[in-house]
Amino acid sequence: MITLGITGGIGSGKSTVSRLFSLYDVPVYIADTESKRLVATSPVIREKLTAMFGNELFEGGVLNKALLAAHIFNDREKLEKVNAIIHPEVAADFARWQAAHSQYDIVAQEAAILFESEFNKYMDKVVMVYTPLEMRIERTMKRDGVGRELVMERIKNQMSDEKKAELSDFVVVNDGTQSLIGQVAQILHRLKSINK
Ligand code: ADP
Repeated sequence: MITLGITGGIGSGKSTVSRLFSLYDVPVYIADTESKRLVATSPVIREKLTAMFGNELFEGGVLNKALLAAHIFNDREKLEKVNAIIHPEVAADFARWQAAHSQYDIVAQEAAILFESEFNKYMDKVVMVYTPLEMRIERTMKRDGVGRELVMERIKNQMSDEKKAELSDFVVVNDGTQSLIGQVAQILHRLKSINK
């Protein structure tokens, strides 16, 4: 089995590319969605976050997302501690998911922060989705109905595209000049030849 990471900055088209891989029968684990689910439901995460921030974080049994965000906002040290609580649970969940999909030759994980969270160590190959910055900003503003400043703020906290491309095995260019399906099909073709 080959484990493929799919990454790229906000608005680059990761979700779009992941959907194309799914259409080619590659199951995709969406790290962002699954980590949010685990933060809301995992007793291990709840216990550790409560020890760090107090019982009010889960008042009424539900995670107070705004409170968590306020605690880690602009506090890199706290953010790293929270990540050290969440990431091992996501890694374990991904390993379980992968075992449940052992009949597939290729499985994928989509993660915006694949390199930042060092999840690339669990991947055999990594695809980066590259879109020029201005296009990413415009697509994200349109998709999320938010202003430029908010998008820029999120981009500022992510690793640069140059660095991501350097660390990736494949780059999918999503600027509208090249077929996405064609690029995805070509990557799958190359992965299948590795797998033989
Ligand atoms: P990400 O998951 O990386 O944040 P998305 O896949 O959600 O990015 O893409 C961001 C937005 O841009 C979405 O609204 C998506 O439909 C749109 N989009 C993605 N690729 C293209 C494209 N090639 N042309 C036009 N719009 C696109």
